[in-house]
Amino acid sequence: MEQPDDWILEVREVTFGYSYHRPAIEGINLKIQRGGFVGILGPSGSGKTSLLKVICGLNKPWYGSVKLNSDKTGKPKIGYVPQVESVDWTFPVTVKEVVSMGIWNDSGAGPWISKVAVEKIRYALESLKIEEYMSRQISELSGGEQQRVFLARAMVSFPDILVLDEPTSGVDYNTREVILDVLRKLNQAGTTIILTTHDISAVAKRLPRLVCINKHIISDGTPVEILTDENLLHTYGLVDGEN
Ligand code: ADP
Ligand code: MG
Repeated sequence: MEQPDDWILEVREVTFGYSYHRPAIEGINLKIQRGGFVGILGPSGSGKTSLLKVICGLNKPWYGSVKLNSDKTGKPKIGYVPQVESVDWTFPVTVKEVVSMGIWNDSGAGPWISKVAVEKIRYALESLKIEEYMSRQISELSGGEQQRVFLARAMVSFPDILVLDEPTSGVDYNTREVILDVLRKLNQAGTTIILTTHDISAVAKRLPRLVCINKHIISDGTPVEILTDENLLHTYGLVDGEN
C-alpha cells in the first residue's frame, strides 16, 4: 500500500507482548492518513486489541514506537472505545455519568463547557439515540446500548483520532448501522478512525482501507485488494474467512 504523505499516526517496527519471548504483535509498521478510516481485521487472538492499546499508549511497546504528527492545531488527541465485553459494569454508574467522563477528562480547567461543546454533545447523544436513557444505570443496558454510550463518551472529548475495539461485535443490525453511520459522519467531518472487526461482509468490505493482521501485518490496502482468498488464508488460516 502506498504510504500517505499527510499522515497523523505512525506505528514503526512495533513489537509487544505480555510474556517474555512471546510477542502478541511483532514488527508492525502502519502509517495512518489524516482523515483516514482504517479497519484492522484478524481472527480472535491475532493481536488487534494489543495493537490498539499500543496506539493509544495503554500498552508500552517492547521495541519500536508510535508517532503522532502535530498540525497547526497541535498534537492529535486520541479517543479510545474499548470492547464492551472487557468492561466490568458492576460499579453503579449512570449513562450521564459515563458520558460526562469524556468531557471532564479533557476539560482540565474545570466543569465549564462552551456552547459549541454543548452542541457537539447534544449531537453525539442524538445521533447515537441515547438521550432517553441518560439517567439509567449502565448495568441495565443491553450490549448494543452500552456500546453506543461508550462511543458517545469518546465523541464528547472531541478526539482527532477515534480508536474503537470491535464496535459492532455482538450488536444487532440496527445498532451496527447507527454506529457505522455515526462513524462515517465523524470521518467526513475530519476525524481519523481506526477500528477492529472480525466481520468481513457487514463491516470490513465497506471501509476504504483494511489491514489484516495475525501477529504480523499480512496485508494492507483496499477491500478489493485485501479480501482475496490468499490473504484470508494467511490471516485466518482458512479460505472462507466469514466468521
Ligand atoms: P485480539 O484482540 O485480536 O483477539 P489480543 O490482542 O487480545 O487479540 O491478544 C493477542 C494475544 O495476546 C493472544 O494470544 C492473547 O491470549 C494474548 N493476550 C491478550 N491480552 C493478554 C493479557 N492481558 N495477558 C496475557 N496475554 C494476553
Ligand atoms: Mg480483541
